[in-house]
Amino acid sequence: MRTTNWMVTAALLVSLSAAAQQAANSPSPAPASAPDASRGSQSSQQTAAPASQPADAQSAPVAQPLPAPAPTTMEEVVNLFIQHEHDLIKMLAKRTPIVETYLQNLSLDPQLGPVPSEDHYFLGRMDMGETIDRKDYLKEQDKSMEQRLMGGFQKLYKVQYQPLGFSWMIYADRTDFDRNHYDFRYVRREFLGDVLCLVFDVTPKKDAGRGRFLGRLWVEDQSYNIVRLNGTYNPAPRNSYFFHMDSWRLNLIPGYWVPSFIYSEEGDFSAGAKNKMAFKAQTRIWGYDLKRGNKDDELTQIRVDSVTDETPANQDASPLQAERVWQQQAEDNVVERLVGGGLLAPEGDVDRILQTVVNNLEVTNNIDLPRPVRTRVLLTSPLETFSVGNTIVISRGLVDVLPDEASLAAVLAHELAHIVLGHNLGSKYAFNDRMLFSDDTTYQNLGFRHIPEEEEAADKKAVELLKNSPYVQKLDNVGLFLKALQARAPALSALLTTHLGNPLSSNGTVTRLAALSTQGPALDNAKLDQIAALPLGGRVKVNPWDDKAEMVKTAAVAITSARDKMPFEVTPFFPRLSRYGASAAPAAAPATAAATPNPGTPGSN
Ligand SMILES: [Zn+2]
Repeated sequence: MRTTNWMVTAALLVSLSAAAQQAANSPSPAPASAPDASRGSQSSQQTAAPASQPADAQSAPVAQPLPAPAPTTMEEVVNLFIQHEHDLIKMLAKRTPIVETYLQNLSLDPQLGPVPSEDHYFLGRMDMGETIDRKDYLKEQDKSMEQRLMGGFQKLYKVQYQPLGFSWMIYADRTDFDRNHYDFRYVRREFLGDVLCLVFDVTPKKDAGRGRFLGRLWVEDQSYNIVRLNGTYNPAPRNSYFFHMDSWRLNLIPGYWVPSFIYSEEGDFSAGAKNKMAFKAQTRIWGYDLKRGNKDDELTQIRVDSVTDETPANQDASPLQAERVWQQQAEDNVVERLVGGGLLAPEGDVDRILQTVVNNLEVTNNIDLPRPVRTRVLLTSPLETFSVGNTIVISRGLVDVLPDEASLAAVLAHELAHIVLGHNLGSKYAFNDRMLFSDDTTYQNLGFRHIPEEEEAADKKAVELLKNSPYVQKLDNVGLFLKALQARAPALSALLTTHLGNPLSSNGTVTRLAALSTQGPALDNAKLDQIAALPLGGRVKVNPWDDKAEMVKTAAVAITSARDKMPFEVTPFFPRLSRYGASAAPAAAPATAAATPNPGTPGSN
C-alpha cells in the first residue's frame, strides 16, 4: 500500500531551475486518443462529417484530411497550407474549448527589470464556430487604449459561449486567408523542436483592409500545416491598437495542428520610450474534446461509483458507514463534474507524484483513514487548493510556482489537515440535482471554502504534520516561498483570487501557513542561488485535446542575474514540437523561455 518513496519524488521535483526550457522526451500518455476510440461507439462512422451529428458535435470523430501529392514548388506549398488552414477552421468549428488568459501589467524595477504591477485573469469557453468580425472590438473609441485592448478579453470572461474577440489570435485570418489578401514570401527552413518547418513572411496586400495578419508563419514540412504564427495585425484603425502575439499549435490528433498557446507582450522600457503601456500575457486553450454541455449529457455524466460493493455481502451499513458512503458519493459527483467541465485533469501522472507526497505525510504521522486520500490537478492558473471529501485538489499554477517538494508538501498538508480534522465540505453534492448546472456556471454552483476557525485549525495541524515528516529539514524553503509570495502578493491579486477554495491571502497579506513564514533566511534577490518561487508554466504541461496533465521534464538553466528568477511571472511559450504519434513527447510543453532571447532554433539551411 503506502510507501515512503519520497526520495523518488525528490528527484523529480527538487530541480531548482527558475527557467527550465526544454520540454522533454517523456513517455507520453496516449496523446489525444482519437475521439471515436475513447467513446467506443460509432465504429462504422469513422469519417462522418462533424456537421452530420449536430446533437453531439464534440464527440464526432475527426475526419482526417486526405493526403495531398507532394508539392514541387513553394507556390504549391502556399496553396496547401492555405487549404489546410481552411480545413482546420472547419474541423474546429464545432468545438467549444476552454480559454484562459492571464495577464500581468508591468512596471520597471531598477534591479529586477520589468515586474508585475497588477494582473488580470480571464476564463471562458470559446465557440469556434462563430465568425468573428475583428473590428467589432475596436469601435469603442471613448475608452482608453488599454480598455480597448482589453475589450476582447473582457467579453471572453463575461459572455461565455459567445464569439470571442481574441480568437483572431488563433488563426492568421479567419475569413480571408488567401492569395487575394496576402503575399507570402519563403524565408528558410528551421527546426522547431523535432519538426522541420518552412518559414514564410506574410504581408497583407495593399488594399486588403484593416486588421490583416502581418508577420511570420512556420509550416511543417510533411503535410504543410501551420504550426506557429508570430506577428500582429495591421493596419489598426485610428486610435486603436493590435497587440503582438506568438501563437503555437500542437499535433494532438492525426492530420491537424491545434491552437494551444498564445503569448502576447507589449512594452518598451528603453530610455525615452513613449508607450507607457506594458504587459505580458499567456493564453492557454484546452478542453477541445469536451462534450458540449447540454442537459442530457450532464445526466449521463453523473455516475455514482458503487462504493457499497466493497462492503462485505449480507451486511447492512452502520450509520457511520452510511455517512462515509454518502461523502464518497458527493466527492465522486464533484470530481466527475469538474472533469466534465474541463476544470480538472483526468487522473494521471501528476496525481501519482502528489499522492506520494501526501503518503509521506500520512505514513510519518501514522494517519490511517478509512478511505484513501486522493489528489487531482485543477487545470487553471490561480494559486489555490481545496478538498472535497478525501480528494485534495491543487491548481496547475500553484504546482508550477512551488520551488521544491517541501513547499508542495506544505500546501498539501493544509488540505490533509482538513481531512484529518474531519472538516468535510461538500456532502450536499451527494444530491444529484445539485450537480445539474451548465459548465459556465461551475464557479457559481460549487464552492469549498472553510470558515476562518477551520482554516486556522488546519494551518496549525499542517505545521504539526510537517514537523513529523521528512520535510522538517526543508521548512526553511517553505518560509522562503511564503516570503516571496508576500513580496508579490499586492501586485498579483488576480493570481491569488481563488474560485473554489480558500484564498492563500487576505487583502494583500499571505495568511496560509503564516506560522512558517518567519522560518528561513530573508528574501534576497541578489542571491542567485536563492530560488524562492518559480515562474508560471515550468512544471505541469496539459494536453489541450484530452486535458491530461503531466510533469514537464526540464534541463536546469543557469540563472545569471536577479532578472532570471521571475517568481510567479508570465514567460513566453516555447513548446518542443513533435508530430502526433512520434516517440518523443507529442504534447509538448509550454516551457519557459525567458532566458532565451531568440527562441527560433537556428537550424536554417
Ligand atoms: Zn483550508
